[in-house]
Amino acid sequence: MRIPIAAGNWKLNYGPQQTAEFLQSIRSELTEVQGVVNLVFPPYISVPAAVQALNGSNIYVGVQNVSEHTQGAFTGEVSAVMAAELCSWTIIGHSERRMYHHETDEMTHSKILRALDAGLSCVVCVGEQLAQREADNSEAVVAGQIQRGLASLPAEKLKDIVIAYEPVWAIGTGRAASRDDAESMAQMIRSVFAEMYGASSAQDLRILYGGSATAANIAAFMESPEIDGALVGGASLKPEFVQISRIIAESRR
Ligand code: PEP
Repeated sequence: MRIPIAAGNWKLNYGPQQTAEFLQSIRSELTEVQGVVNLVFPPYISVPAAVQALNGSNIYVGVQNVSEHTQGAFTGEVSAVMAAELCSWTIIGHSERRMYHHETDEMTHSKILRALDAGLSCVVCVGEQLAQREADNSEAVVAGQIQRGLASLPAEKLKDIVIAYEPVWAIGTGRAASRDDAESMAQMIRSVFAEMYGASSAQDLRILYGGSATAANIAAFMESPEIDGALVGGASLKPEFVQISRIIAESRR
């Protein structure tokens, strides 16, 4: 059975002090939720505070991005090896990185390789924009992101890959995808992964839904056996994240 995941992408929110306060406020309740992997992704500057606040708990800390470079004259960058000194997960290819920082699938691909090499597990984000959905192009767009972004990964590292299907039009808009749409995209993602890495790896692959996920709508997504949890933005900044984690865990009991 695939252990589900509740992941919180904090984006550009909560500096070190707010990180410590927020995590101290949810830590004990979140730790009690069994049968789910809880992940939080604070901004880089707040990662040490998160690690400290969660020390001894079963809640994992990750970063929101890693550099495609390993070292050198790349001002403002942080390498996967550096991130791995503090934490064990990273998000890669979030649509906000693709949109505002012009990340291509090729960059996503090299970041994934760097992260896996450094021992980080990756939540790789894929998803179509509204115009692409309206043009009936969602499947081709997302399949291409997977084929290019996840090409030629070492077989022994596939277990460290999680895919988050995040339709761009659903992120931060309050307009979540329907369960059926998310489910059929997850099925498609699994079949593309199966073509690349075989049926058994695809069966083990965890696929998350992301895009305006809340405590009010997450149960519906979890009714789908294809969806293994959520990547949550806005609602992960509130105690609501604990409820989301609980609902995800209960859905698989
Ligand atoms: C995200 O940032 O990955 C996300 C899904 O955001 P939100 O839940 O706020 O739509």
